[in-house]
Amino acid sequence: MTVPEDFGWEDAAIVRFRRALLDWFVRHKRELPWRGVKDPYAVLVSEMMLQQTQVVTVIAYYDRWMERFPGVEDLARAPLESVLEVWAGLGYYRRARFLHRAAQEIMSTWGGQLPSTAKELRTLPGIGAYTAGAVASIAFGKPEPVVDGNVSRVLARLFCLDGDLSRGEGQRTLWGLAGVLVDKARPGDFNQALMELGATVCMPRNPTCVDCPVQDQCAAFAEGDPARYPTPAERTRQRPVAVGTSVVVAKRNGETKFLVVQRPAEGLLAGLWQFPSIEQEGKAVPDPQALLCLIESYLETPAPPHVRHGLGQVVHQFSHIRWRIEAELFIVEDFEPSEARVREGLRWVNVEELKALPMSAAMRKIEGLLQGFD
Ligand code: SF4
Repeated sequence: MTVPEDFGWEDAAIVRFRRALLDWFVRHKRELPWRGVKDPYAVLVSEMMLQQTQVVTVIAYYDRWMERFPGVEDLARAPLESVLEVWAGLGYYRRARFLHRAAQEIMSTWGGQLPSTAKELRTLPGIGAYTAGAVASIAFGKPEPVVDGNVSRVLARLFCLDGDLSRGEGQRTLWGLAGVLVDKARPGDFNQALMELGATVCMPRNPTCVDCPVQDQCAAFAEGDPARYPTPAERTRQRPVAVGTSVVVAKRNGETKFLVVQRPAEGLLAGLWQFPSIEQEGKAVPDPQALLCLIESYLETPAPPHVRHGLGQVVHQFSHIRWRIEAELFIVEDFEPSEARVREGLRWVNVEELKALPMSAAMRKIEGLLQGFD
């Protein structure tokens, strides 16, 4: 960790900063389901969910998760499919898989109790410096710093930090500063307060400095243009991928079944279920004939008489990929899917079962397009 040479705050300034921030936090913190919770497992769950996902989105997922897996042992014992099912829609599914594996390791290596230091926490799958610091400080009261996007922005403004803060020296500087500033008596509250300030006052475009409890110590405010910091990092370009998706529906005697297939266990959206789809690099729409061949390979027979309707287009973005999905409805009347052809990674499901499957948000958008079709 490095602290900038011109950091220049006396001990008294650090004490003043901590007090102002903590007092403000007590009065202005948002009521959130995980606030005040000291159960280390619950803190871990909330912190994993909050990575790359907004608070408002996380609330419902957190409540549902804690209802379904109230303790580390419940999570460790659950099949991965149930875990993904509860996570479905939250995105960045690796986090769910890591959480599941971490729970299993906590049971097998740590006797069911989360380790209490940041160093030990970092040995668990998927737990990096941020999560380890958050759990150690919030659940165990250890004087560990945290640096996330909100903290980075606040520190960049407080100290007018120029340059790329997302890696290397920039990251070392942020962690160094956060380590010096963290309140040694109330590290959990302090870390949450710094993140809360970034989320609700020191916002990316329009910081409301007039409401800021540490305005008198902020170098960017004194300079007159706080939003100039942090320097924007170069955006990662998203790769366009064209996807052809077919919602294959078999109808017979008033019953409707959907063909769903499971994605590979590794890679993007690993292990989630989806409608038969073809993905190809670039913007050209996948050939409908290729989609038909794919469906026939799943059916293990030439396609029975069917009708195809266009359902429309869906755009879905990942951090590095942009999916443009051309969706269609593929209806086979009077068709009874053969049980013999159901195999691992391929199922025929009714509407209720479809709703319960762990599917990506992109597939749920396509499911939404089915409204209006019988
Ligand atoms: Fe952020 Fe403004 Fe507070 Fe500085 S004064 S920390 S820019 S909200």
